[in-house]
Amino acid sequence: EHRLAENGGAGLATARPSPSGSGWDNCIDYYIKKQLRVWCRLQNRQWELGNIQSVLGGKASVTLLDGTVMKVSTGELLPANSEVLDGVNNLVELSYLNEPSVLCNLQYRYHRDVIYTMAGPVLLAINPFKDALNSGNDVIMAYKEKILDSPHVYAIADTAYSDMMRDGLNQSIIISGESGAGKSITTKLAIEYLTEVGGENSELASRIRECGFILEAFGNAKTSRNKNSSRFGKLIDINYDAKGIIRGACIHTLILMFEQSRISQLCRSERSYHVFYQMCAGSSSDLRDKLNLRMASEYKFLNQSGCLKVHDVDDAHNFKKLTEAMDTLQISHEDQDRIFILLAAILWLGNIAFEVTDHENHVTVVIDEASRSAARLMGCKINDLKVALSSHKNQTLMLQQAIDTRDALAKFVYTSLFSWLVKTINISLEGDKELTGKSISILDTYGFESYQKNSFEQLLINYAEERLHQHFVRHLFKLEQEEYESEGIDWKQIEFVDNQGCLDLFEEKTVGLLSTLNEVSNDSEATSLIFVNKLKQRLSSTLGFNNEKEAFRVHHYAGEVQYESTGFLEKNKDALQSDTILFLSSCCGNFLSNESNLSDLNKQTAVTKFKDRLFKLIKQLENSKPHFIQCVRPNAKQLQGMYEKDIVLQQLRCNGVFEIVKMSKSRYPTRMTHQEFANRFCCLLSDQTRCQDSLSTSVAILQQYHVLPEMYQLGFTKIYFRADQVSILEKLRQQV
Ligand code: ATP
Repeated sequence: EHRLAENGGAGLATARPSPSGSGWDNCIDYYIKKQLRVWCRLQNRQWELGNIQSVLGGKASVTLLDGTVMKVSTGELLPANSEVLDGVNNLVELSYLNEPSVLCNLQYRYHRDVIYTMAGPVLLAINPFKDALNSGNDVIMAYKEKILDSPHVYAIADTAYSDMMRDGLNQSIIISGESGAGKSITTKLAIEYLTEVGGENSELASRIRECGFILEAFGNAKTSRNKNSSRFGKLIDINYDAKGIIRGACIHTLILMFEQSRISQLCRSERSYHVFYQMCAGSSSDLRDKLNLRMASEYKFLNQSGCLKVHDVDDAHNFKKLTEAMDTLQISHEDQDRIFILLAAILWLGNIAFEVTDHENHVTVVIDEASRSAARLMGCKINDLKVALSSHKNQTLMLQQAIDTRDALAKFVYTSLFSWLVKTINISLEGDKELTGKSISILDTYGFESYQKNSFEQLLINYAEERLHQHFVRHLFKLEQEEYESEGIDWKQIEFVDNQGCLDLFEEKTVGLLSTLNEVSNDSEATSLIFVNKLKQRLSSTLGFNNEKEAFRVHHYAGEVQYESTGFLEKNKDALQSDTILFLSSCCGNFLSNESNLSDLNKQTAVTKFKDRLFKLIKQLENSKPHFIQCVRPNAKQLQGMYEKDIVLQQLRCNGVFEIVKMSKSRYPTRMTHQEFANRFCCLLSDQTRCQDSLSTSVAILQQYHVLPEMYQLGFTKIYFRADQVSILEKLRQQV
């Protein structure tokens, strides 16, 4: 628990004495005399504001705001900030950083519809679950013209843009948070701003905005936590020329490699990808005839979860928006038709039934409307489809094998379609490659997931989250503290939770979690029990186990998650049988075979492919200056106006928000080499006082202008300044 703020640094120290490690002994009289507010923890563990009236034998008598008098141990008291600090823009401004102070500051703002607050350099965005009325063109213009400067996604996007223009460096905006916390909406706002400031090329800007709708249709679904949950991670690069005008964009996806299961299997009350329902509800009668399309309720892949509609979502209208967005992106009508044909083929594949032909459970495909429609839409003969689905190497399949083959085929077609779509969108966004200068990348991640039952999909999602969290930790804690140390700066280390250990657990080359999974997947005889047993042999000191469920538990930075290993090996092998591959390359009008190198498919496991993509993505991020936005879910029910402190606190703790603010209070955000500083500010010195070497010149400037010692530190090669100090010198410089 973060009991007390250290008042050090940044000129923020308050005059009042604070309780220290030894408790309230040295300052309780002061709090009583001045009637300063304190936080008092009640029996229900909730914190309330009050004033101490008296203390006797370690027990304080406290009057709460509603007049109730409570007797509590002084151990249950924490100092509260004075009223003038209620609802500050940046948590750094708080004198006390204890949990109730931070939670109440955010709540104070949230209940006034102010959803954004800075935590040092990180923007916190608390999901309002309603239109917070603080976006759109007028607000964008107000931030662009610096009329507004309160915390906002637009302000972060503006900083990224200005930094890119000033320093000529690539920038990234990394948006994280749990599922349903508001990452996708935040991403949209960032894109809105970045396309507006880089305007002039309005055609390209509108394509960049529209492509989000297409990706959502194909990559988002209703889950139990979010009715519009992204089931893939995406990084969007917006490229600018030297004048800051948009010249192109590119989307990279951590593709639905692992959420393929959603195509054929749905949890109760969840849905498959939006596009299926949109197409079923919104197709014209011409298209319906062409696809032999029915309503969503008639397809097994859609109707198994008991959820076909989402409250307040008009699928038919969204289908119209989807085709309009495809038009904007210049996806030809011929290609649009090919997309819908394959989507319909997937739905009909799901309705294909099998007939058992002998007592050994061997099967054949039932020839009916489903199989006929699927074959026609895939452009193959019904007999070829029949062979592909019911046999392997001339051996007839058994029922479960045939069902698995059918589902694998449907998933593969969908994944290939998604890849093709991203590629096509990227061609449309490519713009003028020659002219591109620097870029701003926006990363919208999946969000950490922990359900009652977690499987392979959650393992990969949470592994990606661990990787990204390490990027966050590295930039906000490690690199900075290492630099202070190497520069000999007098600095008190801020403790933070480093998740490197958990990453090592995943990534260790021979005995790590992922390599063990790959190793076991390569053995065709292996079972999930063998996998779990191998984990026990190798990682018993770091993982927990539940024998009953063949499950293992991982301590993630965001909490412990239990993964049930059933299905892990099959999902990791992710393999299509070779004859299915052959079949695919002969149909679908070569559409899919052009898309994926079919012969390479079986060579890599899902884990390996996923890790490769993730590493490329991280490498790209490492090449840019990061800006972080942390989205927060204020309640589990997706309700507006409801702020549940425990839920918010848990997210703030996991993401190290308290440590970030502490760090920001004591950090030196501006830094320059001695040489840079001397060159820039030597004009402030008279000729007589200028020195030969840059260090002496720098010291002379600092002394002559009475820069307070607590406002800077001299490192071996650089000078480090507190916030805003250099801008004072800049003003003086402009007057010379
Ligand atoms: P996932 O990881 O599941 O994709 P997410 O973090 O991207 O989730 P969003 O889809 O952005 O979450 O948000 C969930 C819902 O919360 C949205 O559909 C919207 O209703 C609401 N919401 C989020 N942010 C805002 C906002 N800034 N203003 C209004 N509503 C919002």
